[in-house]
Amino acid sequence: MKGGDSKTYEVIIIGGGPAGMTAGLYTTRSRFQTLLLEGALFGGQMTTTDLIENYPGFPQGVSGSELSRLMEEQAKRFGLEIANQEVMEVKLEGEMKRVRTYESAYLCEALIICTGTEYRKIGVPGEKELTGKGVSFCSTCDGPFFQDRKIVVVGGGDSALTEALYLTKFAQEVTIIHRRDALRATKIYQERAFANPKIKFLWNSVVEEIKGDDVVGSLMVKNVKTGEVKEFETEGAFIFIGISPKTQFLKGLVQMDEAGYIITNANCETSVKGIFAAGDCRKQLLRQITTAVGDGSTAAFAVEKYLEGKE
Ligand code: NAP
Repeated sequence: MKGGDSKTYEVIIIGGGPAGMTAGLYTTRSRFQTLLLEGALFGGQMTTTDLIENYPGFPQGVSGSELSRLMEEQAKRFGLEIANQEVMEVKLEGEMKRVRTYESAYLCEALIICTGTEYRKIGVPGEKELTGKGVSFCSTCDGPFFQDRKIVVVGGGDSALTEALYLTKFAQEVTIIHRRDALRATKIYQERAFANPKIKFLWNSVVEEIKGDDVVGSLMVKNVKTGEVKEFETEGAFIFIGISPKTQFLKGLVQMDEAGYIITNANCETSVKGIFAAGDCRKQLLRQITTAVGDGSTAAFAVEKYLEGKE
């Protein structure tokens, strides 16, 4: 075994979302010994999506958990090794890459980063303290706790609208608080939200504080046009104001933009030879399951060319 006590693989993939699972499917079918490391749930953000309607092959849509399960089963079929471990550090050792998790360390010839993104926080008083006590970043996890309650969703993008629509299955009323007077979300979600009698809108408004002793009781909301701050009573606040890449632990290793998205060329190659990035963590125009899957296969093919070139 090369590298002392570290097990060596030809390919290591960090992240078990659609990009990582697709990359694993391709590298194992090309017979490269591959390890996929995932610190949380396999499927990534897909797993917390109730219904996916824009992934081809499922004309009636498919639940995020089912699509994750199917992708994992397919990737494993060709010999992908999977470990439920969170990566804390990647270091270069000549042409090899050393990947350290909290439990172990591994070496690989080629590394594919597929760490995806996480939901951004507003950063106001009460948000952190009341997370899990009425503040939530996951409607499929927490929506059922808000049966017949009045709740809010913060944001105006695809996440805010799709999650608000899902939450109307449980809540009596869902108020979308958005900082502008126009939504960013895809038109079909806008049409559905405007047509849903349970969904109300609070335009030109930002949340300045989330209040509550043990659980959320109200929000301090500022109208950005008038400057007026009002207290808005609610029992739940679901925050969907965008995403940030999970690339902190790679700072200084590969080139990133100011937001932390990894810069690659069209072949998913990063600034470091033998390190590739695929899916939502990569700087690109569109972030969807379809684009993640496309990236995963491109990165795997680029890895194959890279490893063949080394022989
Ligand atoms: P997003 O598209 O970046 O939208 C974020 C929303 O939050 C925007 O409306 C933004 O307002 C607002 N916002 C940002 N910072 C804020 C702050 N500090 N305070 C208050 N509001 C703030 O993020 P997303 O909706 O999470 O979507 C992320 C990506 O996933 C997108 O590419 C999206 O298309 C994709 N996605 C797709 C689907 C689907 O197709 N089914 C579902 C979910 C997500 P402004 O509009 O004023 O900037």
